[in-house]
Amino acid sequence: MRILIVASEGFPYVKTGGLADVVGALPRGLADLGHEVTTLLPGYPSVLHASPGSEVVDGYLELYGGPARVLRLPTAAGAPGVLAVDAPHLFGRPGHPYLRPDGREWDDNGFRFAALAVVAREIALGRRPGFAPDVVHAHDWQAGLVPAYLALDGGPRPATVMTVHNLAFQGQFPAVWLGALGLPATAFAVAGVEYYGAIGYLKAGLYYADKLTTVSPTYAREIQTADGGMGLGGLLAGRSADLTGIVNGIDTEQWDPAADPMVEPPYDADRLAVRAQHKAALQAELGLEVRDDLPLFCVVSRLTWQKGMDVLLAAVPALVEARAQLALLGSGDAPLEAGFRAAADNHPGRIAVRIGYDEALSHRLQAGSDAILVPSRFEPCGLTQLYGLRYGCVPVVAATGGLVDTVVDDAAADRGTGVIFEPGRTDRLVDAIRRTIDLWRQGERWQTMQRRGMAQDLGWAQAARAYVEVYEAARAKNG
Ligand code: ADP
Repeated sequence: MRILIVASEGFPYVKTGGLADVVGALPRGLADLGHEVTTLLPGYPSVLHASPGSEVVDGYLELYGGPARVLRLPTAAGAPGVLAVDAPHLFGRPGHPYLRPDGREWDDNGFRFAALAVVAREIALGRRPGFAPDVVHAHDWQAGLVPAYLALDGGPRPATVMTVHNLAFQGQFPAVWLGALGLPATAFAVAGVEYYGAIGYLKAGLYYADKLTTVSPTYAREIQTADGGMGLGGLLAGRSADLTGIVNGIDTEQWDPAADPMVEPPYDADRLAVRAQHKAALQAELGLEVRDDLPLFCVVSRLTWQKGMDVLLAAVPALVEARAQLALLGSGDAPLEAGFRAAADNHPGRIAVRIGYDEALSHRLQAGSDAILVPSRFEPCGLTQLYGLRYGCVPVVAATGGLVDTVVDDAAADRGTGVIFEPGRTDRLVDAIRRTIDLWRQGERWQTMQRRGMAQDLGWAQAARAYVEVYEAARAKNG
């Protein structure tokens, strides 16, 4: 099968979160099953600079305000292909892919990602060179117009699949843009792109795609409810038969404690003692007391309400009181950043906070911390708990979405890989932290839990097979 993946992020070119990890790794999982995959990304500076020696495969004289080219990025022989839309007037902005330097969204995000979708449509319909797919797989609202454009084109087209990585981000733009976006007036309807009086990009994708997926079975159920549906619950419940939850894999080469260039010396489940060195180095690096008699919790997260970071901030005094340490890496909402900075100031040696984005430190935190806290209010899949499992950094997670699909509470006698607690409540998080400390102090039992997590198959093979089934179902439906 030939598969075109369309997304706004993909590791290693551009990443703000889990979407990039998935788009970066899924193509190889599909290629390993014998499928031919090409990914289409916006040509942000980080994408183009990472790829000198690109080949120009197509050009547009005018694409939403300026000329554009489609580039094929150089990739290793036999590796999945990558195409980038080089449109400097839309994507030639350094920094965050969606936000201005002042943290606000770019005013023209609607046109930037419509441009991505137009290029995807032209390639997918074989009108332009690039790649002739059997299936187009669109990810999140930035690619939401792709299934809409293809369906509204009216002619023969490849099958379409839309994946939701986080329903909280929906991409809504003014109704008056309809014509400029090349959408027919008839599409501005509940049975179309209309969403609460605006044009909803994710809504459009969810309405027009042949098949839908999201990133865990539990989240697939949650988003069909009034609460979890965030305005789209009715539509999703109506398309229940077309919706599948597939837990993300992880890139087991990027994330491998036995061969991670950011984690020296390497270790595995038989050399767990090596983690003590990583812990001591991490404590020293972060200005924490270098002590092996205190459990070290870590957090690698966006600092937002979704991630339950306010719940965690309120739990800091109890965590310190329980004689534990916390190392937090993240960035996000200003009050939370300030709150965690203050917590670090108030508890020197026990709480360390790094505001920012640091891929290498995120690996060192997984290798050197005893446990990773993921107190999300909702979590479509979550990746950091999976990296935790792989690195022997025991996940302590809220009972929501993909977290419950990937972590088994210690209470399940012979299967426990972590600790689970009720989301959104500081008292429950504090209980979980105390329970975790208790388990950690039991040595042997803790190591059994670590080894169980490390023994899990977290790679992409299973998820890739599940996506292929969805692609086949989409093709059958498309006729
Ligand atoms: P989300 O996509 O909702 O932010 P996920 O858990 O699915 O959450 O994915 C987050 C990804 O981003 C993980 O790979 C995680 O390690 C990474 N990450 C998040 N914050 C940071 C940070 N401050 N520095 C480095 N990596 C980070």
